[in-house]
Amino acid sequence: MLFDPYKRRINYLRISVTDRCNLRCRYCMPEEGIPLISHDEILTYEEILRIVRVFAAEGISKVRLTGGEPLVRKGIVDFISRLSSIEEIKDLSLTTNGILLKESAQDLKQAGLKRINISLDSLKKERFYQITRKDAFERVWSGIEEALRVGLSPIKINMVAIQGLNEDEIESFARLTFHLPLTVRYIEYMPSANGEAWKKSDILTIPRIKTRLENVGKLIPIPADRWDGPAKRFRIEGAIGEIGLIGAVSTHFCDDCNRLRLTADGKIRTCLFSDEEIDVKELLRKGGSDRDLRERLLVALREKPERHHIDTHQFKKCQRNMSAIGG
Ligand code: SAM
Repeated sequence: MLFDPYKRRINYLRISVTDRCNLRCRYCMPEEGIPLISHDEILTYEEILRIVRVFAAEGISKVRLTGGEPLVRKGIVDFISRLSSIEEIKDLSLTTNGILLKESAQDLKQAGLKRINISLDSLKKERFYQITRKDAFERVWSGIEEALRVGLSPIKINMVAIQGLNEDEIESFARLTFHLPLTVRYIEYMPSANGEAWKKSDILTIPRIKTRLENVGKLIPIPADRWDGPAKRFRIEGAIGEIGLIGAVSTHFCDDCNRLRLTADGKIRTCLFSDEEIDVKELLRKGGSDRDLRERLLVALREKPERHHIDTHQFKKCQRNMSAIGG
């Protein structure tokens, strides 16, 4: 088992498989995109598999693939089937914007993916376009329907809640859980390197979201399970789906942090909001051994900060974009 200096058990690795994305969400990046990492600098699937095998032998048992947009990377389905055959990985998941999900959901399921997170910030076609700069709401929605049809479960819908942008949709997202077996998760808006200017007043805090949810129905807490991480889970009375609340900024999110991140170009990051990075790519490409890799993992654990400082004067935005780190 892996523990950091604050006695948190670290069992979760989020892997950004690409920094490329097929959306341009305003809060994440500018319309023209951001400078991309060159192809040779991106970890190959073989390299990622080797890292995961070594880390899994030490205690990483949960892996999430993210990006950029993971479904734009060629060969992702085959890669998932290879990852899913690593015995120690008990939980393998993927975060996607859903644009390419309709055509890939069945293959992903067959490759061994059990569950999926789909990012969706609006149920309104026009607003979806306004946020993502792409007219693709129907495409994403049909991707969600396909994920339900092929039996991916749980399917989590992640909504970044932003004051003045989509706060009037908190209730309509929650109502989805009455007739669909979805988990709707509300995530507080965090500062990002290249998105539109972030202001603290843009955050729709979890307590405010909760108050709005109480208009929809009685919120019944669901006891935490070992895979939950920082989400607090609820069910609205009478609903078949669930609600998750992720207070990335306003609550004690960090106390339950169980994760490390691997960037598309092979750096371990100890926290989304720390620019501390520990190289593994150069190590691998210069012939480093599994033992050297393990050492790097232990360094990362030792350096994991106790908490982020978004809400304090010490906070400075991280230098990398969310799409390169793997938000
Ligand atoms: N393309 C994939 C997707 O859309 O899910 C994976 C990468 S995307 C960076 C991962 C998640 O980060 C998305 O749910 C996105 O909404 C979220 N995200 C990006 N910038 C954010 C911010 N400033 N605050 C909160 N969440 C953010």
